[in-house]
Amino acid sequence: MATEPLPLQKTAAAGPEGSVAVAATAAAGPPLIRFDDVVKRYGDHVVLDRLGFSVRRGEHVTLIGPSGSGKTTILRLLMTLERVSDGVIWVDGDPLSHTRAPDGSLRPATERHLREARKKIGMVFQQFNLFPHMRVLQNITEAPVSVLGMDRDEAEARARELLELVGLSGKIDAHPSQLSGGQQQRVAIARALAMRPEILLLDEVTSALDPELVAGVLELLSDIARNTDITMLCVTHEMNFARDVSETVLMFDSGRVIESGSPEKIFSDPEHERTREFLTAVL
Ligand code: ADP
Repeated sequence: MATEPLPLQKTAAAGPEGSVAVAATAAAGPPLIRFDDVVKRYGDHVVLDRLGFSVRRGEHVTLIGPSGSGKTTILRLLMTLERVSDGVIWVDGDPLSHTRAPDGSLRPATERHLREARKKIGMVFQQFNLFPHMRVLQNITEAPVSVLGMDRDEAEARARELLELVGLSGKIDAHPSQLSGGQQQRVAIARALAMRPEILLLDEVTSALDPELVAGVLELLSDIARNTDITMLCVTHEMNFARDVSETVLMFDSGRVIESGSPEKIFSDPEHERTREFLTAVL
């Protein structure tokens, strides 16, 4: 069966040049992702505190802020690995965190709804999380075949194309333990892309890598950001990467967005003292 082309060509921009996601939702049409007064609690500990922000289709957003401010929790909620305590997450106009009842009201999402919703979203983790007992090829084909029901030949053809894209064609039969951290992370990126996600979540994907491997993985992600339509949310300490790749930076503190704007604005002329302190500590 013929393999569909990789989503490597950008379509027309989804919003006005330079628009800022948090502020410009109304002007930019319906957002792809919207957090609507989202609360996440663990026991008495409020991690996200009536959080609201939105992201346009095709936008690349970097989440920055001190450790413990809730950035990873946001990605885990979007990946449906966690459930909201209150509020609603919307993706493409539909509730992600909830199921719409026949009377139109919103109920906490069923497992079935979450399984369906998850198909639009891919995530790459700090610790790669490859399936250790599977070879590289199967790591990439497993979910398209078992979750999307893709024909195995098609999934394999696509996996080969993706391995070429991430520069690992020669490692198709390797086990994860035979690969460097950088190579494992490239496989994890290929695995996420194999699901043709509309949204790619990147959670400190270079933090576990040896320093000499970081630049190559960041370059690959920059290529993906430049050459695809995929909407990206990225938690990273790599401020140069944030500056190069994202249109919007969201600064978090204690589970809230305290400031948002273009990387130029946030890194050069932040409004908040808390942002200045944070950037002084990490830059
Ligand atoms: P960040 O990514 O900004 O460092 P996280 O989203 O990882 O922050 O964590 C935010 C807060 O939520 C932290 O205080 C963390 O300890 C807490 N937290 C995260 N996951 C859990 C969990 N499963 N159980 C209890 N507390 C958690």
